[in-house]
Amino acid sequence: MSQMSSTMNENNNNNNKESHYNTSLKDYLHSSQSHPITRHWQSQSVQNFSPKDFILPLFVLDDDYANESIESFPDVYRMGQNILIEYLTPLVSDLGLSSILLFPCLEQQYGQQEEKNLDDAFNVEKNPLLKVIPVIKKKFPQLLIITDVCLCAFTDHGHCCIFDQHNGHIDNPKSIEALAKLSVKYAQVGADVIAPSDMMDSRIALIREQLTLAGYSHVSILSYGAKFSSCFYGPFRNAAGSAPKFGDRKKYQLPAGSRGMALRSIDRDIRQGADMIMVKPAMAYLDIVRSIADHYPNYPIAVYQVSGEYSMLKHAAQIDLFDLRQIVMETIIGFKRAGASIIITYFTADILHWIHNNNGGQEF
Ligand SMILES: [Zn+2]
Repeated sequence: MSQMSSTMNENNNNNNKESHYNTSLKDYLHSSQSHPITRHWQSQSVQNFSPKDFILPLFVLDDDYANESIESFPDVYRMGQNILIEYLTPLVSDLGLSSILLFPCLEQQYGQQEEKNLDDAFNVEKNPLLKVIPVIKKKFPQLLIITDVCLCAFTDHGHCCIFDQHNGHIDNPKSIEALAKLSVKYAQVGADVIAPSDMMDSRIALIREQLTLAGYSHVSILSYGAKFSSCFYGPFRNAAGSAPKFGDRKKYQLPAGSRGMALRSIDRDIRQGADMIMVKPAMAYLDIVRSIADHYPNYPIAVYQVSGEYSMLKHAAQIDLFDLRQIVMETIIGFKRAGASIIITYFTADILHWIHNNNGGQEF
């Protein structure tokens, strides 16, 4: 039995499909090199800041003309398709924006009346990403489109998984089956990179297998491998409407003090076929970035400077505690020094302006 199928059978008892592949999951290279931006990331060129190093996260609404501000998240908006295209045009055309990370927002379209339903994740009428990805791809064919893959935007309880109805525990096989199905759906509409943020066990192996079997072996996987349970996610949950209705996410997100588990999680995701790996949040976890960079020098590492980190710096700069450009660039330098080569930040548009005006780099 191949390594892939033995991994799959261990982790998903419902999946008895025999794999056609006799290769190790770590042997996949095409998905790391099929797009100019993922090739840049794999090149590990870290001397200077390039617009290619930065990923802009975006919250997408179903209403084409929506442009909603978000409480506690200054200068970040939930945008509908038409507003989003307008917003992206100068960033892509003039400032070199090269990659975006998309999150679907459904809370607003449902309001308080209607219950969310997981089936909506796969329905083009309900999941705004399925509609917007082809439009963005057509308008900006060179822009790398990364889709966050998780269930929390679609589950009525707001958790990133499906629960077993009998015992209330996480139903891991069912959860990763849904995540893999959603990944294939996003690949079908044009996503270049799949970024699973759920932290379910062994989802990378199933996503990799299902993408490959569906004919999307060129699609990259950016794993949220070391995602810690964190207070820093607060403003994001307002933005995406993804706060869980009960409990917290401590049963599947890493404990803040867990270096060993973080390394095990990253090691597992690499063995299962991730092209790139992520540490999230960033600023309080740079020792983890350095450990991973030392252990896995052959993989690009992304850090996610999350909503709470962004809002904290932004609010402090607004009351003149420090200069925004200087403090942001200092954090970016810290990420690079720790070993990250890909930086996901809500400051991406600001940074692209600073790089363009030639004051984002060397002087720091
Ligand atoms: Zn989630």
